[in-house]
Amino acid sequence: MKGFEYLQEQLDEMKEEGTFRNLIPLQSAQGSKVTIKGKEVIQLSSNNYLGLTSHPKMKEAADIANKEYGVGTGSVRTIAGTLKMHEDFEEKLAKFKHTEAALVFQSGFTTNQGILSSILTDKDVVISDELNHASIIDGIRLTKAGRKIYKHVDMESLEQALKESSEYRTRLVVTDGVFSMDGNIAPLPEIVELCEKYDALVMVDDAHASGVLGDNGRGTVNHFGLDGRVHIQVGTLSKAIGVLGGYAASTKTLREYLIHKGRPFLFSTSHPPAVTAANDAAIDVLLNEPELIDKLWDNTKLFKKELESLGFDIGISETPITPVMIGDDALTHKFSDELFEEGVFAQGIVFPTVQKGKGRIRTIVTAEHSKEELQEALKAFEKVGKNLGII
Ligand code: PMP
Repeated sequence: MKGFEYLQEQLDEMKEEGTFRNLIPLQSAQGSKVTIKGKEVIQLSSNNYLGLTSHPKMKEAADIANKEYGVGTGSVRTIAGTLKMHEDFEEKLAKFKHTEAALVFQSGFTTNQGILSSILTDKDVVISDELNHASIIDGIRLTKAGRKIYKHVDMESLEQALKESSEYRTRLVVTDGVFSMDGNIAPLPEIVELCEKYDALVMVDDAHASGVLGDNGRGTVNHFGLDGRVHIQVGTLSKAIGVLGGYAASTKTLREYLIHKGRPFLFSTSHPPAVTAANDAAIDVLLNEPELIDKLWDNTKLFKKELESLGFDIGISETPITPVMIGDDALTHKFSDELFEEGVFAQGIVFPTVQKGKGRIRTIVTAEHSKEELQEALKAFEKVGKNLGII
């Protein structure tokens, strides 16, 4: 069919510059090992931090919900698509997060979009870290509020932005809790202090901290002992929680406002019962099986230590997201391809996701990996690293 030649041209350009990527289908369930192209490989590219995608209790909860409530809800939440289990889960989530209320969206992405596009007007300003996630950037694009971007985790730059925005009604400072490409943690205590000094609101996107940091995985706010001092905690239910969805944990006022004004919430059908039941069961897993988080961190420490002693540069990571810095885009993809030959699936991340020349293999170990699997993966890194002259 004619009409898309202009798109094809761009795809061809991407192929020429080496940034075109095919989707890579898994032929097995997500796990510490997965089957790709008929080959079993160690998985180092998922966000399945705790291995919950296949947790028996969560699968059982999903099965029961499927049987009792069917596979879909048939409506948006505000018309006929709110099941009692949706609200029960939100209450449980709020209690878990130590907040007054919580509201679940279809994904973490739409949570950020829904909040940022609805709670600010041209009387307000949003102040955002330059390396915040794409969903925050897109949410900001949808608001009529003023916009200020501060230098990555730079508190002087943030303070400057706060000083320059005193004429606005509401100043909202937004940051990722854990930055998804470098694995560093936002300096939340300093951010909160500055926001209190300048009477600004704080919003944290804890996609990569939910289930990873804080008591039982409550996130960065709890990790830093800041419960009650952060206005909006966004999280995802699709990474460590292992299922699907996003949430805003905050006040009753914000929850009620988002129910009325949050467009992705208002205009998109609610989660299927099995999704909500599995998400609900995940909170019990976090509360009852803290050893999973301990194992995640043991594996993380071991993997980071060994990578560094092999001579790799792992950047500024403080969390299970461990980038192995390579540099050149084409070399990064070559590294990833050779790792695959050695039995390891670890994707290369290059421009435009990260700056040009900052290509990296982004690894995430999970609680599911055995020590043997990690040693096997490290051997592959050593071999490929030496082959390609990185170490
Ligand atoms: N925020 C951050 C920081 C993320 O890394 C992601 C996932 N890539 C999201 C939001 C979106 O979450 P979800 O996958 O649930 O849409």
